[in-house]
Amino acid sequence: MMKPKRLESELQDVGTFSHPKQNLEQYATTPALATKVLHLAAVEFGDIEDKSVIDLGVGTGVLAIGAKLMGAGHVLGLDVDVDALSECKENLEMYEPELEVELVLMDVIELIRRYDDYDEEESDESDDDDDDNNNGDGKRKDYVWPKADTVVTNPPFGTRRKGADVAFLAAAMKMAETAVYSFHKTSTREYIQKVATKKLGAKSAKVVAEMKYGLKNQYGHHRKDEVEVFVDVWRIEPTCKMKRDGNNDEDEIFEQNLRDLATNIEELQLSARERKDKHRSSKNSNNTSNTSNRR
Ligand code: SAH
Repeated sequence: MMKPKRLESELQDVGTFSHPKQNLEQYATTPALATKVLHLAAVEFGDIEDKSVIDLGVGTGVLAIGAKLMGAGHVLGLDVDVDALSECKENLEMYEPELEVELVLMDVIELIRRYDDYDEEESDESDDDDDDNNNGDGKRKDYVWPKADTVVTNPPFGTRRKGADVAFLAAAMKMAETAVYSFHKTSTREYIQKVATKKLGAKSAKVVAEMKYGLKNQYGHHRKDEVEVFVDVWRIEPTCKMKRDGNNDEDEIFEQNLRDLATNIEELQLSARERKDKHRSSKNSNNTSNTSNRR
């Protein structure tokens, strides 16, 4: 297994968000932090080596790449942002041979809202009451989530979009067979404990590491240059579920869902590049853009 020093230096070159999007709370995990968490997960708990891993909100990929370098089996990275996914793809291509991480475009928050009932109670927490997906007969429960042994996530902390942290956690617990590693602000420790065990039915939820997180001022709304945030790393065991055994209907549906959601990454990269070019050309001149016929 790769030594921590080596892993950290391997992760130094992983590119971070070139244009971080504030509403998606895009903050890349530092190589030091990623190393700490992955090493703990691998050595202390045996959750990485030869395990399938999902990186929820993969961003530019430092956690997924780290997991792969630590000997994970199949690694799947999910994100709602095409630009992040294509930067992630570029990071994977830096390695020789290219690291194999499957990337899928997915709006985790939208999915959990649509297909799970986790937010039915505690309505004082959220003031939007659009029931558009409720159809009068409650939310659908038949969604087949992608599954992995281990889910790692540095989720949005919910400072821009209220409840995003818990929505991510709920989705992570749907996807994990064995363990979820998730980062949450230390100030929300009691709340997370309660949510994980009471609301989401975790078998166990423990803070396994505490970190100080220097958030650089990449967005205008922080007044200081660097803000320190205290962050807990949680290890959460979801409730025992039946393992998919490889030949039941669920597998069919799961594969179909993935196919529906997966947009070919090459296409994603193309359209991201196109948009960048368009952006550039509309900046340079007002009227000379050669508009492409997509729609
Ligand atoms: N895992 C990366 C990025 C963490 S930042 C790292 O550790 O460096 C949080 C990530 O969650 C961003 O990449 C952001 O695009 C993604 N994200 C935010 N909202 C999302 C949503 N609704 N569905 C899926 N991904 C989302």
